[in-house]
Amino acid sequence: ASMREERIEKTKTVCTYCGVGCTFDVWTKDRKILKVEPQQDSPANGISTCVKGKFGWDYVNSEERLTKPLIRDGESFVEVEWDVALDYTAKRFSEIKAEKGADALGFIASSKATNEESYVMQKLARQVIGTNNVDNCSRYCQAPATMGLFRTVGHGGDSGSIDDIAEADMVITIGSNTAESHPVLASRIKRSQKLFGQTLYVFDLRKHEMGQRADRFFQPKSGTDLVWLSAVTKYIIDQGWEDRDFINTWVNGFDDYKQSLEKFTLAYAEELTGISKEALIEIAEQIVSVDKLAICWAMGVTQHQLGSDTSTAISNLLLITGNYRRNGTGAYPLRGHNNVQGCSDFGSMPNFFPGYEKVADDDVRKRYEDAWEVEIPAEPGKDNHEMIGAIHEGNLHSLYVLGEDTGIVDANIHYVTAAFEKLEFFVVQDLFLTETAKYADVILPAVPSLEKEGTFTNTERRIQRLYKALDTKGDSRPDYEIITDLAGRLGYDWGYDHPAVIMDEAASLAPLFAGVSYDRLTNYNSLQWPVAADGTDTPLLYTDGFPFADTKARLYPLDYQLMYDTNHEYDLHVNNGRVLEHFHEGNMTYKSKGITSKMPTAFIEVSPELAEERGINEGAEVKLISEAGEATGLVHITDRVSGRELYLPLNDNGKTAVNYLTDNRVDKDSDTPAYKEIAVRMEVMKKK
Ligand code: SF4
Repeated sequence: ASMREERIEKTKTVCTYCGVGCTFDVWTKDRKILKVEPQQDSPANGISTCVKGKFGWDYVNSEERLTKPLIRDGESFVEVEWDVALDYTAKRFSEIKAEKGADALGFIASSKATNEESYVMQKLARQVIGTNNVDNCSRYCQAPATMGLFRTVGHGGDSGSIDDIAEADMVITIGSNTAESHPVLASRIKRSQKLFGQTLYVFDLRKHEMGQRADRFFQPKSGTDLVWLSAVTKYIIDQGWEDRDFINTWVNGFDDYKQSLEKFTLAYAEELTGISKEALIEIAEQIVSVDKLAICWAMGVTQHQLGSDTSTAISNLLLITGNYRRNGTGAYPLRGHNNVQGCSDFGSMPNFFPGYEKVADDDVRKRYEDAWEVEIPAEPGKDNHEMIGAIHEGNLHSLYVLGEDTGIVDANIHYVTAAFEKLEFFVVQDLFLTETAKYADVILPAVPSLEKEGTFTNTERRIQRLYKALDTKGDSRPDYEIITDLAGRLGYDWGYDHPAVIMDEAASLAPLFAGVSYDRLTNYNSLQWPVAADGTDTPLLYTDGFPFADTKARLYPLDYQLMYDTNHEYDLHVNNGRVLEHFHEGNMTYKSKGITSKMPTAFIEVSPELAEERGINEGAEVKLISEAGEATGLVHITDRVSGRELYLPLNDNGKTAVNYLTDNRVDKDSDTPAYKEIAVRMEVMKKK
């Protein structure tokens, strides 16, 4: 028996569930997880965790874990050894590249995997295969927030730390079910509200816990946040309440921007959003009355056709009111997955190398070409959405998906799975036989965070180390090891024997991470990027100015058109999001007994008014039908939703999956699916 089996061990790890990035010691004996113990030193959470971080770990011992590589044999799979699976994969990649060119292959990295694994995935695509077709699931959630920040302030991350949100005089949350999606962060806000009189304004379609706790709660009509944000900004400028000193010193483009606001009158905003003129004035007055404002937002903003523009409007408002560069102020897109920030940071994006340096920039590309001794195409590659389209068009023939149940989480399931069926060669690397893996030709068994080393980056740009707490299960292997092995079989010997070496390489190439090293990240030590070569990190961005040539931020003019609405045939709007207990499609949490006993299946929230109109009771079975497809589920009647608004937890991998209803509409600037823009009609199957 190994040492691990005999004694209790304590290992520092980082929560694998949400972007708050809680850290704790996990107590194990053999493969048993005895307890999770947060430490005073945990930078993001101190001694707190939530139900997922505390109890959500038994999936690692699930009987359903994949422990052997699988290769398709007709309608089923056969277990094979690693050599067979990887040689076959290398052979098929080489053949497809030789026949159809490097751009016939696509790569999707995982926001659940480590920074080092994102780095090697993009290196596999760019160096070994020779394509920029590499992306990650921030395309499904956070890309619009990143776009809005790039346009205005230059860094695609939270302006400050979770401490800054707690320190603000006023916090506004928009389209964020913070108490359920980012529980520990929400508890910081609740505490500040209670102890220090922090003012909380919540904007959401659904009156969730934070909506109930808010000093003011507003329910703007779906997809209209850009309108009230711009109207409030215009009103502030019209009153002469903007922060003149800040704008003069730090901001470009004021006059053009001011002009662009012309149409956003209070009357226009009232009509479109449903928020009254008086309330809009009150919001403006409250914003300018405080010294420090922080705005948090999430999928309720980003997953719309105007997701990037709405994120931009948030940043514009912060710039006008001087709410950047100081502690307690700034823009906080709340990152969903544990490592959705890091996966983009480390280069698994079609247009960026690690550290958000453009693929199209000749100098940057040359740096990587010299280091990797290959030529890299100057043209950005395809993003996730474009890859699926390219398969349908016959331009992409092979896909390698890591740790992502694309067939459930991408919008429009029928369209996506039809694309999988057209692939010549499909590799899925995951812990479980996911819905996506069922379409694969080769399935490679990976390991969860507790069985490997690496780093994750949380929503505050904080890079944190996780240590190996458990031996790998069966023949499963860490993602970085599998990808490194595959690269070797394709002729590129990377020589990585530990993730620390991968991080050293990333730090040597990407200035954003210049001073990042495992030595500086031991135990509970962490670094918030940018990290200078001497190891100085950046808890608060922009103190030395904005990362543009003239160090000034830019106001970005915006327009608004109504992009979608319910109609006579599809008369109900479906909102969707998380519940506290589950995580994303539920591949991990539905395998945790502790969690499923609390929340066994998804449900459809229906308002009391609508339930009465349709004559249905709690537990009734209904079918929702959109233009793209249909989903069935059980009704939960609640006044969290009102009128013709429905709410569907996104955490379902069965017949209530929301992506049977979504279609191909995307944010016009980032290709993020407009998951929140679904019109449906409802058929009652069983009244109950
Ligand atoms: Fe994990 Fe997020 Fe809960 Fe913290 S708040 S324990 S990071 S799921």
